[in-house]
Amino acid sequence: MTSISLPERVRVFVVGAGFAGLGTAIKLDEHGFGDFLVVDKGQSVGGTWRDNTYPGAACDVPSQLYSFSFAPNPDWSRSFSPQPEIQAYLERTAREAGVLDRFRFGVTVEDAAWDEEERVWHIGTDHGEVLADILVTGSGGLSEPKLPDIAGIDSFAGEIFHSARWNHDYDLTGKRVAVIGTGASAIQIVPEVAKQAAHLDVYQRTAPWVMPRGDRPYKAIERFAFRHLPLVQKAYRTGIYWGRECFVPGFTINPRLAVPAKKLALQNIERGISDPELRKAVTPHFQIGCKRILISNDYYPALDSDHVDLVTDGIREITPTGIVTADGTVREVDAIVVATGFYTTEQPIAEHVKGRDGRTLADAWRETGMAAYKGTTIAGFPNLFQIVGPNTGLGHSSMVFIIESQIAYIRSALQQMGERGIATVEPTQQAQDAWNDDVQRRMKRTVWSTGGCASWYIDSHGRNTTLWPRTTFAFRGLLRSFDLDQYVVTRRTATPIPQENVA
Ligand code: NAP
Repeated sequence: MTSISLPERVRVFVVGAGFAGLGTAIKLDEHGFGDFLVVDKGQSVGGTWRDNTYPGAACDVPSQLYSFSFAPNPDWSRSFSPQPEIQAYLERTAREAGVLDRFRFGVTVEDAAWDEEERVWHIGTDHGEVLADILVTGSGGLSEPKLPDIAGIDSFAGEIFHSARWNHDYDLTGKRVAVIGTGASAIQIVPEVAKQAAHLDVYQRTAPWVMPRGDRPYKAIERFAFRHLPLVQKAYRTGIYWGRECFVPGFTINPRLAVPAKKLALQNIERGISDPELRKAVTPHFQIGCKRILISNDYYPALDSDHVDLVTDGIREITPTGIVTADGTVREVDAIVVATGFYTTEQPIAEHVKGRDGRTLADAWRETGMAAYKGTTIAGFPNLFQIVGPNTGLGHSSMVFIIESQIAYIRSALQQMGERGIATVEPTQQAQDAWNDDVQRRMKRTVWSTGGCASWYIDSHGRNTTLWPRTTFAFRGLLRSFDLDQYVVTRRTATPIPQENVA
């Protein structure tokens, strides 16, 4: 164990140093709540953008929306940013905000338990325990790689790694490579690996919808304007934001509104692929939008290359030297890239956070699936705030907008707690149930429920507990200020306050 020193007690303990943890730190600091600690198991800020370094990694949300509203980035080189630029932006933003003295890297949170008597969180880490009044989790919805449950996967004797744990020491040049999966990560990886590998097999279980990627380098004049005329960049951002919000009804109200998008995606297949059989094999059989819509200009041309094969037969097993499909065909490979996604509806952190009665979040969610109030607070878990909690995900716009909305809500909670002498807040079960009933009622008519696909949005109970079924501005409005009247609160004197006395 290295000599990382953690304070014994802080007001706010934040797990994760990605957009969520960093944004929380900056805003708490700015508003006078400087007594916080952010820990991350990695060695820098960045979260998913630090971990996903695979070749071709880039954002599929426009650059202008992919920054904090309070820290615009004039340095974006393109309209869709490559991963290194996003990582550099986050590192620079952290440095310039002057908050890094309260970050500890290389620290893993092992568990967190609420102590009802002392009204404090006991947070166990691999570098000792920290006590905190408030626990904020910003550990991300897409942080734990999910390996596929394929027979024999452990027996593979060649090189095998997950897209989010890329082995940069392994040179794919001239190798026979397999990529398993055709999701957002895989379609960025495939064109890059195709440039290096002698042969590439792409294992597709479900063909995704892939739209053209409207990506271009910014012109010198645009970059000059972003740097010297901040209002120009703001106008870009605002225009893109509202343009994206126009997509929401196509997802949530009437999937027929997405017909133009479907046409563009079909044209993308025709433009990128010459072989009619291959065109057929990549044409999806579900409504566009049901799974995340992907964007790429080079994925289909890569599949169309002579040394790349699309394999659509299911995988039966992996042997020490290759992959066997259901029809018995054996394809020998030197390396397998596993691009099969992340744990989304069963978040690993839920196993480690214990609430008021000693139950973990996973216990609380076992019967019903993930549920929270406003995607942020959870009945039975006082003073816990989850950023990117249940039903906060987006298919059409930037998660940074959602994250900032949640941070504003948390900041408002801390402010009210301070002003009113409140020790603990916990949403009433009634408020939480009403919130989730409304979310699930709206979910019924969305394309995610009706579009005829299986996706990681849906949990084992058949409920979509990951996505937000409304506009992002509706979410922001609902979280604008902390609604104490929906909470059970206790004063610092430990006497519960009747609800009528707190509003
Ligand atoms: P994903 O969307 O969950 O895709 C996983 C892929 O692996 C799917 O094609 C899936 O097929 C396939 N798969 C899973 N298990 C399999 C198995 N046992 N056998 C064969 N195939 C299997 O994961 P991802 O591509 O890593 O993307 C996850 C999320 O990360 C995205 O939805 C997006 O939100 C985010 N992301 C964002 C960007 C960005 O540019 N901002 C880039 C990458 C990722 P099925 O479709 O049949 O399940």
